[in-house]
Amino acid sequence: MKVLSVASECAPLVKTGGLADVTGALPGAMKTEGVEMRTMLPGYPAVLAALEGGQVLREERDLMGGPARVLAGRAGALDLMVVDAPHLYAREGSIYLGPDGRDWPDNPARFAALSWAAAEVARHDWPADVVHCHDWQAGFAPYYLRTGGPPSVLTIHNIAFHGNAAPEEIGPLRLDPSDFTPEGYEFWGRLSALKAGLVWADRLTTVSPTYAAELMRPEFGMGLDGVMRARAADLAGILNGIDTAVWNPATDPLIEPYDTPEGKAPNKAALRRIMGLPEAAGPLCVVVSRLTEQKGFDLLLEALPVLLARGGQLALLGSGDPALERAFHAAAEDRNVAVRIGYDEALAHRLIAGGDAILVPSRFEPCGLTQLMGLRYGTVPLVALTGGLADTVIDASPAALAAGAATGIQVHPVAAGPLAHGLGRLCDLWETPAIWAQLQGNAMAAPVGWERSARAYAALYAALIA
Ligand code: ADP
Repeated sequence: MKVLSVASECAPLVKTGGLADVTGALPGAMKTEGVEMRTMLPGYPAVLAALEGGQVLREERDLMGGPARVLAGRAGALDLMVVDAPHLYAREGSIYLGPDGRDWPDNPARFAALSWAAAEVARHDWPADVVHCHDWQAGFAPYYLRTGGPPSVLTIHNIAFHGNAAPEEIGPLRLDPSDFTPEGYEFWGRLSALKAGLVWADRLTTVSPTYAAELMRPEFGMGLDGVMRARAADLAGILNGIDTAVWNPATDPLIEPYDTPEGKAPNKAALRRIMGLPEAAGPLCVVVSRLTEQKGFDLLLEALPVLLARGGQLALLGSGDPALERAFHAAAEDRNVAVRIGYDEALAHRLIAGGDAILVPSRFEPCGLTQLMGLRYGTVPLVALTGGLADTVIDASPAALAAGAATGIQVHPVAAGPLAHGLGRLCDLWETPAIWAQLQGNAMAAPVGWERSARAYAALYAALIA
C-alpha cells in the first residue's frame, strides 16, 4: 500500500510543534504495517539542505506564481517528495511568519501549491493508494483531487488554524468559484483551506478520541463544529504516539540514561544546576511548550503560589506570546522559578528527564505530546481534562490508586482555582513516597508508542481502498 503524507512540517527537518513529531514518526510506524509512506514537504532551505539524492519527479512551469520542481529523495530515514519552489519557500526564519512576526502574506498560495503538487504527484508521478493530508496546509489537496485521483484522508491536528484567505484568491488558488458556498470552502465570506479539506476529504481523523467528540461542540469547533457534525460518520479519533526511539530514557544521549524512576535523581540534580534552582522540599515541575492562550499558562501563573508555598519549583522552557513571556520572566524573580524563553530540543529532553512532574493545563489540546514524553520518563503529568490529555492520563483518584492504575493528575474545569487544587493534590501525592513511586512506575509502563495507532491508520487506509 502506497500512501503520500502531505504536511508543512516534519521532524527532525522542520518543526514548530507536535504536527512535525507526528509526520516524522508516522512513516516508520506505518512501515511495520506494510504501508510504504512518502512525505511531501515544502522546499524550505532546511529541507532542501537535508535532501539526499534528490531526483526530479515532476516539473511545473507555473506553480502559484513561479516555476517549481518536485524532488524525490531521502533525508535520514524519511522518504521525501520536496516541492522546490523558490518563489514560495526560499525564505530564512520561521516557516509561517515573516520578519514582522505576522503570517507571510502569501501563505494561502504557499500551501495551496503544496496541496496542488500533492494531488498531481499522487495522480501521475507516484501513483498513491491514499493521500494523507495534515491540517489546513494540505487542506486543498482533497479538493484538487475531487476531479479524480486516489482517496484522501485529512487529519486535524488543531482546528484552531483554518488557513483563511480573501475571496480574491479563488482564481489564483485554482478553485472553482461555484464551490465558494457555505457547503463548500467558504467560511463567512472568506475561503478556508481547512474547510475545503473537511468537506472534500473521503475520511477525517483527529489525534484523539476525546478531541473527535469535542470538535462537534461549539466550544471546541472554532466555527467548524457544524461541518464536523455533518461529517461525524467519517471521523475517527486516533491517538498520537511519540517516537519511542527518540524519547527513550534508557538510551537518550542528552541525559543520564535510566530505566527506573530512581535513575531520575542525577537528571534532577543536573537540571537544577542548568536552570539555577536551589534544592527544595517539594516537587520540581517542568513545562515545555508554546506559550499561547491555548496552553493555559496564564492560569498556571495564577495558581503558581500554591505550588511554591508547598516547597515546589517550576522550570519552564517555552516561547510565544510576548505578554506571557514577560509574565514568566517576572515570575522567575522567585528563586524557585526558572524560565528559559526559546526553543531548545536538548533542554526539552533534560527538563522532561529531570522533572518530577510535567504541567499541561491546556484549555484545549487535540492530543498533546509532552504528557506522553512525561509518562515515558516517569515525570508525572498534571493535565487539563480535555482532548488527548483526557485520553492518555489516568487521574490519581482513590479508586485508580487502589487499582494501581493511576498515572497522573487531571484538572477540571480548566481554570485557575481547579489548577491550584490540582497542584495541591500533586504535592500531597509527592509527600507520600510510596504513592509517588507507584505513579512513576505506572507512568513509565503506560503505552505511548505508535503501535496501536499505526494499526488503526492501516485499517483506515485499507477500508478506503476497498
Ligand atoms: P503543539 O503541537 O500544540 O505545540 P504538542 O504537545 O502536540 O503541542 O507538541 C509540542 C512539541 O514541541 C513537543 O515535541 C515539545 O517537546 C516541543 N516543544 C514545544 N515547545 C518547545 C520548546 N520551547 N523547546 C523545545 N521543544 C518544544
